[in-house]
Amino acid sequence: MTQKISGGCACGAIHYECNVDAVVMMNCHCRDCQKANGAAYAAIMALPKAAFQIRGTPSYHGIVGASGKLVERGFCPSCGSQLTFKAEVLADVIGVQAGSLDDPSIYRPDMDVFTSSAQPWDHMDPSVQKHSHGPPL
Ligand SMILES: [Zn+2]
Ligand SMILES: [Zn+2]
Repeated sequence: MTQKISGGCACGAIHYECNVDAVVMMNCHCRDCQKANGAAYAAIMALPKAAFQIRGTPSYHGIVGASGKLVERGFCPSCGSQLTFKAEVLADVIGVQAGSLDDPSIYRPDMDVFTSSAQPWDHMDPSVQKHSHGPPL
């Protein structure tokens, strides 16, 4: 069922909306996500770029990801909240950090990815599909 997905940063400078369902939702346990989020993993909801609207301008920090392609993370330049995730290999989608959603309870992970670098203090839900490296695309 389609519901309006919306969210934003902690200070309110940036807000986003999407009126179509998520393409996929995944917990990424790669070291890049751990570093960027300062947490055990990044909970990422991938939304179709065409249906994504944003008010305010995130700052982007780009790195070359495990795929060898550019990965960019958007954060609020004022409060530092991690908001968006763009990957060159997934040009049609934009990821949002599940914790930034106005209602984070709508997040339901389809899979855990890069579990090879998951931390021993991070208990993963055994009922969620596991991939030792990237998502199967
Ligand atoms: Zn902010
Ligand atoms: Zn990751």
